[in-house]
Parts: sequence; structure tokens; C-alpha cells
Amino acid sequence: MADPPKDPLIGATFGGRWSIERPLAAGGMGAVYVARHGDTGRPVALKLIKSAGAADPELVARFRKETAALAAVSHPNVVTFLDSGVDNGTFFLVMELLAGQSLRAIMKVAVPWRRAFAIAADMCRALAALHKLGIVHRDLKPENVFLQTAEGHDEVTKLIDFGVVRRDDAATAAATRTGMVVGTPGYISPEQLRGGTATAASDVYAVGVILYELVAGRFPFAADNSHAMLVRQLIDPVPPPRSINPAVPAHVESLILRMMERDPAQRVATALDALALLVDAGQAATPPG
Ligand code: ADP
Ligand code: MG
Repeated sequence: MADPPKDPLIGATFGGRWSIERPLAAGGMGAVYVARHGDTGRPVALKLIKSAGAADPELVARFRKETAALAAVSHPNVVTFLDSGVDNGTFFLVMELLAGQSLRAIMKVAVPWRRAFAIAADMCRALAALHKLGIVHRDLKPENVFLQTAEGHDEVTKLIDFGVVRRDDAATAAATRTGMVVGTPGYISPEQLRGGTATAASDVYAVGVILYELVAGRFPFAADNSHAMLVRQLIDPVPPPRSINPAVPAHVESLILRMMERDPAQRVATALDALALLVDAGQAATPPG
């Protein structure tokens, strides 16, 4: 059998120093490769827009915004930015190469709530840093969260994909006035679904949905089609996590549901508030039953 066509980017150099070695993952619009620093051989992750999209000005603008947000945040729970630029006709982003797995990979079964809360707390720490800079993530989902593992260390949660971040400034307000809903069904907040503005509370909502999925072992809005999923997300009562996994303690369930409140005014409002509640809940003795 013939070999599959070789990716022409293997061996290509970006920015005069990052040499592409092998593919790591291909997402929607982007591709992530393992690359090496020419001088030292240090491996890194290099992300770029897939060839078909490289000429799309809207995609390029989004990717630039992602890169600017990543470069602006220096935080232990956010992947470290190393370099960016334009080369080989495309915009590229270089980050530290993480060892571990995406949060999606551990979701095949219910995760003990204490581990889930530790992951969510790290997500909230990263979000608080982001929100402080006036940046709303808007596309939190398990695929965009990475669990870094290193021998002898506890697992560390890192946000890796800032694909649809929005800055609270006039320029961005103009750019998003097209009314296009960006984000991922099921994790995107009800106010975003209704065409409203994403706020810090919208990111808290996404963390709530991810937490639900982790501790219940099931996505809260599973449905056969996108319309049914919208109805489940916007109208039907949320099935309590304990109705799916009775091992979930009541105080864990009630915090998750507060983070998933449909009305942002009723929801845990900020990442710092969510963090404090998650830490408190983690320290509370688990009541029997
Ligand atoms: P996309 O915009 O295509 O969703 P992501 O930034 O989410 O791209 O990356 C896609 C996948 O590539 C991730 O789910 C993860 O498995 C892998 N990945 C991305 N960045 C890194 C990194 N810095 N280190 C290791 N793996 C990474
Ligand atoms: Mg992604």
C-alpha cells in the first residue's frame, strides 16, 4: 500500500528557529505540531492555521487575538507562550510542550469529586487571571483543558486553547457585532446562545458544565440533535448530578448547579467567587449519605 502523502510542513522551519518534527493533533481550524528549537533541540508545541484557512482574514485575526491573549497571561495554569510570527505564509504560535492528556481523555467514567474540584479550582485560577486583563475565554470545554503530568508531581491543569477569546474593548466590540455565536454547544452559556455578551460569569457557567460532566460521568444536555440539545440547555430542568451518580455529595451537587444557573444574575458571578466556593467545599467534611 502507498504511504499516505507526507505532510509538507514536516521539516519546515518557522521564525528561523522552530523546526517542525511531527504532528501532535489536528483540531478544527488549526494543527498542532511538535517542533524543536534549532539551537538547543528543545521540543515545543507549534500551532498554526491549516493550509485551507491560512488566507482567511477572519481566521488569521482570531488566531492573532488568541496569541495576544496567551502572551498577555503569565500563569501556572495557562500554557506558556514562547514565540509567534508569520512564516511560510501562515501565522504561527509556539508554546511549551506539555506532557499529559486533555481533560476529555479522563471523562470516560465519573471522576471522584475531589479530583474534579481540584481541576475546576485550577481552571478558575487561570480564568481569574484572564478576567483581570479584561479577557473572557468563551470556549472552555474539556478539549481545551490539559492535565499536565510529570513524574513526582501532582497533576497540573493548564488552559491551552484561547481560540475565541474576547477582549472588553471597543475594537473587539465592533469585530463581534456581526452577531455570530462562537463557542461550543453545551458549554457555551445561555446568554451567549441568546446572542448576548459573554462575561466572566459565562466562563463560570462552562466550568460548571465541565464539573457536572466530570462528577456525574455524563454530559448534562445529551440529546440526539442540536435542537433537542438547545431545549435541554435552555428550557428543561437540569437533571441533578446525584440522579445520575448517587456517590456525588449534596453540597457538591448544589455548588455545580449554582455555577450552571441559566440566569447569570443568579449564577456564581466571578471566577474568584467560584474558586473560594470550590476550595471551601473541598475542605468541608463529606456529610454521610
Ligand atoms: P484547536 O484550536 O485546533 O482546538 P488546541 O490548542 O485546542 O487547538 O490544540 C489541539 C490539541 O493539541 C489539544 O487538545 C492537545 O491535545 C494538543 N495540544 C495543544 N497544545 C499543546 C501543548 N502546548 N502541549 C501538548 N499538547 C498540546
Ligand atoms: Mg481546542
